[in-house]
Amino acid sequence: MLLYREIPVGPDVQKRFDDRWEVSEEESPDDVRGPCHVWTGTINPHSKYGQLYARGKVYYVHRVALALRGTPAPLDRVVDHLCRNKACCNPEHLEPITVQENARRYCKHPPEEQDGSRKLHAARAVELRERLRKGEDATRLAEEYGITESMAEKIGAGLYWAWAEEGKENG
Ligand SMILES: [Zn+2]
Repeated sequence: MLLYREIPVGPDVQKRFDDRWEVSEEESPDDVRGPCHVWTGTINPHSKYGQLYARGKVYYVHRVALALRGTPAPLDRVVDHLCRNKACCNPEHLEPITVQENARRYCKHPPEEQDGSRKLHAARAVELRERLRKGEDATRLAEEYGITESMAEKIGAGLYWAWAEEGKENG
């Protein structure tokens, strides 16, 4: 069973958050407002995003930043770092967008070409399913892979890419 988590907000979470970032001295890109707020807490070794431990659970810090500002990112959106700095938690630099918009912004290949790379997708799906089986958090994996939680759940349950198994994804 996958968890669909809301971000907790309150003085305790606010304090843990406020204690763990500093204003970047580097110049930010022209199209973003103000400097980056660089996360000084834990960085996820896989996704390279900042994470915050609060009330017994771990959350992505960019989602916490938006929730604390009173504008939580919907769970079916991915959070785009407009400054391209994954460790940034300045809510002014964060924009919740759809998976489709995320692909439009960052996809290096046209959609036809992507759909053609079946093998690559299958390999990613197998990897994702394995990580879900090992108990990794679906919310975070979905974000890392740039897909919705619903999609991650379906891949995990074998509804999508069921034919793809490790070492047999050439089919
Ligand atoms: Zn930033």
